[in-house]
Amino acid sequence: MWIEMKRGSYVRVVAAVMFAGMICAGAATVLGRSKPGAQSQSYSFPYGEAEAKLEADLQKIPSAKEAESHLRWITSNPHMAGTEGSHKVAEWLRAQYESYGFDAKIVTYSAWMPQPAEIKLELIEPEKRTLGTQEQPVAGDKDSQVKQAFPAFNSYAASGEVKAAVVYVNYGTPEDYKQLDAMGVDVAGKIVLARYGKSYRGIKAKLAEEHKAAGLLIYSDPYDDGYDAGDVFPQGPWRPMSGIQRGSVLYTEIYPGDPLTPEVAATPEAKRIAPEQAGSLTRIPTLPINAQDAEQILSHLSGAKLPREWQGGLPFTYHSGPGALVHLKVAMNYQQRNIYDVVAKLKGTDDSQWMLMGNHHDAWVYGAVDPGSGTAVMLETARALGELAKKGWKPLRSIIMCEWDGEEEGLIGSTEWVEQNVKELQEKAVVYINTDVGVAGPNFGGSATPSLKRMLRAATTEVTYPELHETVYEAWRERVKKQRAEKPNAPADETLLQGEEVPVGDLGAGSDFCAFFDYAGIPSMDLGFGGEYGVYHSMYDDFYWMKHFGDPTFEFHATLARVLGVLTMRFAQGFEDFDLAAYAARIEGRVKYLHGLADDAHMNDLNLKALQKSAEDFFTSIPYVDQAWNPTPGAENVGPQELESVRKMDQTFLSPSGLIGRPWFKHVMFAPGSYTGYASVMMPGLTEAIWRKDSATAQQEASQIQEALERGVAQMRKIYPPPARAHRVE
Ligand SMILES: [Zn+2]
Repeated sequence: MWIEMKRGSYVRVVAAVMFAGMICAGAATVLGRSKPGAQSQSYSFPYGEAEAKLEADLQKIPSAKEAESHLRWITSNPHMAGTEGSHKVAEWLRAQYESYGFDAKIVTYSAWMPQPAEIKLELIEPEKRTLGTQEQPVAGDKDSQVKQAFPAFNSYAASGEVKAAVVYVNYGTPEDYKQLDAMGVDVAGKIVLARYGKSYRGIKAKLAEEHKAAGLLIYSDPYDDGYDAGDVFPQGPWRPMSGIQRGSVLYTEIYPGDPLTPEVAATPEAKRIAPEQAGSLTRIPTLPINAQDAEQILSHLSGAKLPREWQGGLPFTYHSGPGALVHLKVAMNYQQRNIYDVVAKLKGTDDSQWMLMGNHHDAWVYGAVDPGSGTAVMLETARALGELAKKGWKPLRSIIMCEWDGEEEGLIGSTEWVEQNVKELQEKAVVYINTDVGVAGPNFGGSATPSLKRMLRAATTEVTYPELHETVYEAWRERVKKQRAEKPNAPADETLLQGEEVPVGDLGAGSDFCAFFDYAGIPSMDLGFGGEYGVYHSMYDDFYWMKHFGDPTFEFHATLARVLGVLTMRFAQGFEDFDLAAYAARIEGRVKYLHGLADDAHMNDLNLKALQKSAEDFFTSIPYVDQAWNPTPGAENVGPQELESVRKMDQTFLSPSGLIGRPWFKHVMFAPGSYTGYASVMMPGLTEAIWRKDSATAQQEASQIQEALERGVAQMRKIYPPPARAHRVE
């Protein structure tokens, strides 16, 4: 509960004042005391007996057996977005939520979406061979024996036909292209062969396009998620040689959602831009392929010696080329297609405030882990909440459970819904909790806006870990300790503040929290259990995989439903804990780091002094309390309006004009990196401008952040008069 931050030459101990329970009930509470210097972080909660009992009752309801039967239903047929399969799952989910006592409806949007009409891949030289092989059926797994309606493809690839020489580009990251440049290898007019990993596949397409490649093949190397990592399916959880990672190449780092309606909901009557104007679409044909096809191409490539790290797991020495001529044809059928979101509401006594939870329901094929596990878990959480409601409990705030469609194509269902309801969400939404890839194994993890990381950790201290006499939090902490012992020289984790035991990551992109957090400034988190999951986006991500490898007893599903239940209870009853001190510490740390980075880059014309000052001001505007847990004088009379401004701090960090060059992204503190795709970059506009040594843009982005912080300081000053600095411990 206490956060110690090294800053300058002194250490000070700061605890954020908690804001809780005052929304309607008027019951001021102070959360989480812990003794400074205690061996481990502890998270107590200011529940009265009634609330504690309710939470305990809720925890008894989620069942492994029920979760298993949900997942069996969800994974019984392929259900890709834009097909009848996905529509059917949506209808079934709506009925499930209704049966739990939620008021559930389907919201339909019309998005510009492709389906493959014709896919062709052949090796022409040095030998003729038909490639584009599909995944092999597996004995014992009946789902794998169903003939697929679609060959594996990259959603949002451009249609095109190319005959060209192949160049292997490793992961196809900016560094890899630099390396190729240094070796004098040009990819212009060639077909680029990149392996999956290190970056979002849309970034691989974007870089191939920027380097004037004529086409792109992306394959799964056995080194990364195949036999080099462990036994492959069906003997183990890793990707077999025929396994293909489908996936979208939409440039979601420019803007996610329907490519023809940026910042506008894709209703039938919405004004649409022409596909040629859409900044999120690639212009080259791309195709995902399996390792056995990649082997047929790669084994023929010759050329200069490559760096050791470019070598993958196939049994020959990798070269960049030349040596292979390939014919690639990708014909896509683009049209307006319907997608179906499910929005289910359990009304609270105060419907002017909402807590939201969500996951997508569309899958590349069966989607047992991604996304079915998260959906099965959410259904168990909803069933538990519904049971309590049937016994007479009513949440303070309304609970809204969302099942999105079109996530795999580019976060479409959630983005369109947020774009349509942004004003109302900014008014009412307290939090959005996402649980995509809910269970892929036994390792708990999560990401969140900095102010909610503590609350996420706290919830895991309340729930028992399967088969062990410890909590989810304790198992998590043990694992982190072990990992650290194994890698003592690993670089420090920027997201981890001093005194924190388990890292909770920053939110990037890659799932449906993106529009909530990056666009609307709704505090968000994303959580689940990870593990050895090699069948991502393949046909083998099915019920058989889950039953044999991911979570054979479904106990982790039930456990996650309990964690979500605890979080829901707390938010729905107005017991939240926004840790602004942690947010402020991250901001200060980041500004300092960027200052150093700019100095190292000799960007003498970039002045970050004013930004640094506003980061310090923001830090000191967060009230101090002394070690005896005395709230800052004046803080006792905080009313609902002041609490609201604390909850809405992320909205204060939105810039109306967005990041320079990608205006859809409004949050100046976090966005997915322009050249990483999924991974989060803190203060993205400023950071990337410094990486490019672009002082003019860096200065502009720095002012945006500075203004955001000044707005934040003004908000805090309304609640707490200029600080009682006496509480600083030096
Ligand atoms: Zn997913």
